[in-house]
Amino acid sequence: MKRLLLILTLIVQFSCSENTTSSDTVFFAGEIVNPTSDYVVLYKNETVVDSAKLDDNNRFSFTLSTIDEGLHHFDHAPQYQYVFLEKGDSLLIRLNASPAYFDESLVFSGDNEEVNNFMIEMFLTYEDEEHLVYSFFKLPPEKFSQKIDSLRSQKLEELELLLNNEEISDNAYAIAKASVDYNSYLYKEKYPFYHKKKTGEDTIHELDSNFYDYRSTLNLNDKDLSYFRPYYDFVKHHFGNLSYMACSQDCGMEDFTSAKSQLHLNKHKMGMIDSLVREESLRDNLFRNVAMDYLLKVHMANDECDKFIKDFERLSSNAAHIEEIKHLYKGIQGLQPNSELPHLTLEDTEGNMTTLKEISRHHKHTVFYFWTADQKRHFRNVIKHVAKLKKLYPKHKFVGINLRTGKANWLATLEDGNFDLDEHYWGGDFKMVQNTLIVDHLNKCIITQDTLILDAFGHLYASF
Ligand SMILES: [Zn+2]
Repeated sequence: MKRLLLILTLIVQFSCSENTTSSDTVFFAGEIVNPTSDYVVLYKNETVVDSAKLDDNNRFSFTLSTIDEGLHHFDHAPQYQYVFLEKGDSLLIRLNASPAYFDESLVFSGDNEEVNNFMIEMFLTYEDEEHLVYSFFKLPPEKFSQKIDSLRSQKLEELELLLNNEEISDNAYAIAKASVDYNSYLYKEKYPFYHKKKTGEDTIHELDSNFYDYRSTLNLNDKDLSYFRPYYDFVKHHFGNLSYMACSQDCGMEDFTSAKSQLHLNKHKMGMIDSLVREESLRDNLFRNVAMDYLLKVHMANDECDKFIKDFERLSSNAAHIEEIKHLYKGIQGLQPNSELPHLTLEDTEGNMTTLKEISRHHKHTVFYFWTADQKRHFRNVIKHVAKLKKLYPKHKFVGINLRTGKANWLATLEDGNFDLDEHYWGGDFKMVQNTLIVDHLNKCIITQDTLILDAFGHLYASF
């Protein structure tokens, strides 16, 4: 990874070295309290612009002879935040990288500090309001709209105040406004579904024609916002909403849970994105999301699915996405009921390497489940739940596969908890385990019968 960064950095520096005046130079620097990595990496969309190593005082700096103006993000692994940069900017940050403080502690000073501080403030405000908004979902549509609109107005007033006091560019204003608007519009796109769920109503609530007023001014091809999380999330849910409504109204769909209806819905959604979104990277990211979503939800393999994957390959212009989805589909094909377990090696508590197949050989039924030491609450719950299941199914063998935990930490956790050591294995190569077994959530389990797969997409809390 480091070598890749270095190569990219060199390319960027070479390609930027001609024809630039010093007034274009961007200086972006800062200090990181409690760093979680040695580097800060600056990105424009998916492309690395440059990376900087922290010095002995945990400071970093970038001097860029020119930039592609607009929204960037900086990554201080494992976290990231956005930064808006324009030519000639000199901007400093200070932040505490402890997970609980990363976003809260981030402060910008220098050029464009107003818009950057405003964006982080909006990020935090929306995070704080989430709980409140969820309680609004049960309200009837007019009341819900009023609440959401009023929360949005407050934020826009704040933005106007900022405009009166400072001079910011049109682009800076646009991104600041987007950080208010799209979070707010997202709630409206979610409303019909959450309202139904919260109230227990049988059907989707009828909405006034003005409920989605903002849709008439939407730009579904905003290149500057393609990689801005609030915009992307909004667009994703917007297509989710549009396709659901179209399928229930025009295609006569009533049930959205069967594999067949999921396939129809996702094909329909893919077609809508194809006809409405021109902006290439946004299109590709949305296509990828639809394919991924579908595969992880339905995880079947048949001719219809093959066709869907072919459609995706035809529409996407992103070779890496196509490779990723093909790989995922191949993984799913290998995890179908009655297949042999895929080849995967794990380490036991004595340091011996063994395979899934070998582990499952000794029992009629083996249940593989997953945990990581990072997520303590999940871990405690799973251990409690597995103990319960072991009593209910005394003949099943329950096997914990540990992910994303150092080996020493894993062993210490097992010893602290007095666990049966022969029921636990360490998956040191997380990516390998994740890709081979398609671990998309931590409550997933894999159930075998006579070493063959019975259900590779089981749920520890729902499958028994
Ligand atoms: Zn449809």
